[in-house]
Amino acid sequence: MLTIALTGGIGSGKTTVSDRFAELGAGVIDTDLLSRELTAPPSPVLDRIAEVFGAKILDADGALERARLRQLVFQDHEARARLEAILHPAIKNLMLQRLAVLQTPYAILVIPLLFETGQQDLADRVLVVDVPEQVQIERVKRRNGLDEDEIRRILSSQVSRRERTAGADDRIDNSGDPAALEAQIQRLHARYLVMAAARPQRA
Ligand code: ADP
Repeated sequence: MLTIALTGGIGSGKTTVSDRFAELGAGVIDTDLLSRELTAPPSPVLDRIAEVFGAKILDADGALERARLRQLVFQDHEARARLEAILHPAIKNLMLQRLAVLQTPYAILVIPLLFETGQQDLADRVLVVDVPEQVQIERVKRRNGLDEDEIRRILSSQVSRRERTAGADDRIDNSGDPAALEAQIQRLHARYLVMAAARPQRA
């Protein structure tokens, strides 16, 4: 199956874009959703995280306190590496399982931290949703009510716009209005269908 890794910074429009590809008939696997699924109790992955980080990352119901865990690993590279060593293999396994049973012409794999986690070669192509930083900041402010400093901190923990664009096979410019976005998605969908049809079919 033709696979396209979709990535982009916070608030660039990954979810908006992947929802639209799904409506057009693409298979969409969102690694953020897989991560949530894998850490919803009861879960061996969650048990392992609690073992490593302590029960303080669980709330009274035994569910993961995401904000607390994020805080714990934000400044601490070693802690982050330990968390990723637990989460990433589990996410990748589940992603491959889901991919194997898709019946769609091609698949979009939404991987927000594709470059940060060195997974550029995971899929056949890399699709980057690109917007100027100021647009990201405005949209995340509106969506999450975060203040500008907090958003800038998150931005600085992600790869730069330039690095992302340099690693892209395909790019969507989401600085415009929804109609401009739609036209680009339609064009890419048509191209991906052609590419998928040109691939050798497995018996
Ligand atoms: P991501 O998944 O990359 O964090 P989202 O798809 O959630 O980004 O988009 C961030 C916010 O910006 C959402 O509130 C979304 O509705 C809004 N948004 C996305 N694309 C556009 C656009 N072209 N014009 C205006 N708002 C947009």
